[in-house]
Amino acid sequence: MLSLESAREKLLGSIKLLPAERVPLAAAPGCFFAEPIAAPIDLPRFDNSAMDGYAVRSDDLKEASADASVSLKQIAHIGAGEVFRGTISKLECARIFTGSVLPHGADAVVMQEDVTVKGDRIQFTEPVKPLENVRLRGEDIRAGSIIANPGDEMTATLASLAAATGHGEISVRTRPRVALVSTGSELVEPGQPLAEGKIYESDRILIASLLREIHCEPAILPLVPDNLDSTIAAFQQAFAQNDFVISTGGVSVGELDFVKAAFERMGGKLEFWKVAMRPGKPFVHGTFGDKHLFGLPGNPVSALVTFLLLARPALLKAAGARDLDLPCLEGELVERLVNRGERRHFVRARWSRGKIHVAGPQSSHMIGSLGSANCLIDVPPQSQLESGQLVAAHLWQLPSD
Ligand code: AMP
Ligand code: MG
Repeated sequence: MLSLESAREKLLGSIKLLPAERVPLAAAPGCFFAEPIAAPIDLPRFDNSAMDGYAVRSDDLKEASADASVSLKQIAHIGAGEVFRGTISKLECARIFTGSVLPHGADAVVMQEDVTVKGDRIQFTEPVKPLENVRLRGEDIRAGSIIANPGDEMTATLASLAAATGHGEISVRTRPRVALVSTGSELVEPGQPLAEGKIYESDRILIASLLREIHCEPAILPLVPDNLDSTIAAFQQAFAQNDFVISTGGVSVGELDFVKAAFERMGGKLEFWKVAMRPGKPFVHGTFGDKHLFGLPGNPVSALVTFLLLARPALLKAAGARDLDLPCLEGELVERLVNRGERRHFVRARWSRGKIHVAGPQSSHMIGSLGSANCLIDVPPQSQLESGQLVAAHLWQLPSD
């Protein structure tokens, strides 16, 4: 059986980057930059005013005081977006607004609150330093400087920066399209009547939601009963339109587990099966040309853990991300965790205000505590983590506290 590290290394080694495409900026948030992006212009673009006030020559106001005010003649009114082509000469000034271009000749701006206006004569009662209330061209971003690198995620703030520097389109990696195929003759769509022996299906919505959080595009396919032909047909349909297929269920050793056989029958190659972890041992990785199958076990908890630790980093790698791991926070265990087994145990828990609470019973069919859990704790084989010990919480949901 492969260790989790080897499985992850093998899996990531087989993942190619999805192609880059140019998309309108509005379509890019959540994608990863495919190439470095430079600022084609200086920011600020031009010297401009930081205040609503008056553009002046600081030299004119050197001697200004409450007792000896200096009067300047207003010769221009420069609204935001307007350009005054003239020059402010000695003892002249211009009405100016936040973001307006600083006119030639002026080297400072006095706030409107600090002057007295008498028609076109403006009175100043104190000096102003050169460059006071002036934002200088290029002091924020120089034309040619890099604002994002390949592998950076297009966040809201990077999108705003790209927009501010004039990028209407941006080159990003395509979002992974992921088909979700759940197998199991016992499964019923939530909202439908539940016949005896049946259960409601809950893996596809779990995985689809986690996929959307990493900006993949899930396609939820119909439920598949446990037989070879239906499973082959479902995989054929899934792979025809998607780069990745995530199946759930049907990866164990029972005679009703058809995922591996169906995948091979449709021409797929099984890369590995079984990983030394708990829950999630029977995880399957298969390739179909450049496309991939991630076969998750059907228990929702096993599906969650294998998705987070194996499928998620693989999809993020394909999407062009640099950071593939779940975000981690350190926390203090409030109870002891013992693993007497031979496999790494990922315990679901809740990180809250720096403390880590185990989230209920840990059998892989127990889902009752999943609603309050937000992280996994890695307990190595044959080991124990003591109460009070600081450990890493691998978060699938960022805590609100
Ligand atoms: P399997 O991996 O197919 O052996 O399924 C393991 C357990 O998970 C069984 O109890 C199934 O009924 C349950 N199960 C399988 N698939 C799902 C699913 N999509 N939603 C909810 N439970 C499931
Ligand atoms: Mg099954």
